[in-house]
Amino acid sequence: MQKHNFHTHTRYSDGHDTPREMIEEAVRRGFTSLGFSDHSYAWYESYYSMSEAGTLSAYREIRALADEYRGTIDVWCGIELDGESGVPYLDYDFIISSVHEMVRHGVSLPIDSGAEKQKELVRELFGGDYVEFAKAYFASLAEHVARNKTDIVGHIDLPTKYSLCPEDDPRYRDAARDAVREIVKWCPLFELNTGAIARGLRTVPYPVPFLLEEIKAAGGSLIVNSDCHYRAKLTCWFDEAEEYLAAHGFEKYENQRLNGRISGVTIWR
Ligand SMILES: [Zn+2]
Ligand SMILES: [Zn+2]
Repeated sequence: MQKHNFHTHTRYSDGHDTPREMIEEAVRRGFTSLGFSDHSYAWYESYYSMSEAGTLSAYREIRALADEYRGTIDVWCGIELDGESGVPYLDYDFIISSVHEMVRHGVSLPIDSGAEKQKELVRELFGGDYVEFAKAYFASLAEHVARNKTDIVGHIDLPTKYSLCPEDDPRYRDAARDAVREIVKWCPLFELNTGAIARGLRTVPYPVPFLLEEIKAAGGSLIVNSDCHYRAKLTCWFDEAEEYLAAHGFEKYENQRLNGRISGVTIWR
């Protein structure tokens, strides 16, 4: 099993543990590196985002912990950057680009903060049309990745979280495939995100098989992340993810580079 995770949350955003507790858990599991990626500060009201002050505190604390644990584990300070957050002002080691909200006319509605809220979003902004919602989501994600220095594309098919999106509708699939082909031009690395499995909301990770095929065909690659909000779930579905990716034609490459700073990473191509 790989000994890293680059999508983890702490109490600075919507995670349940402190950075130190997360690092201790990673060390206990024999990790070689741990990347923190708390949710970026957002201008709209959001229970899951870091506060403005918390953003700086988190950055300083994680940098200090990285020094303290040097030689035991590599600790990286990244961010899960929301599409609406703008360019980060701190020097992060890596950026996961994700879209969790749709904004229209200054109003922000969440995509993955409960099925009822998602239904409200689709009703308010798209007259109940889930395919139009999905198209707008994919356009927003593609624009976000193109605009920012993205290292990892976060949970690409997040709108399917509550099984309300018509995943078998050819119009949905076309929009999703178009998004992959556009996004891969800016960032080839997508995450296989097992977070919704950890929370009992799904039995398969993001992305689903037809998108895996599109990513492979477009020359993209994958990194396995658990989008960890509880340290007990740090390696949730990691063994199964290896089987899942191998079953869909991906090969494992160890000791790869994530970017100019981070190496020793397992990537699937
Ligand atoms: Zn996310
Ligand atoms: Zn996350």
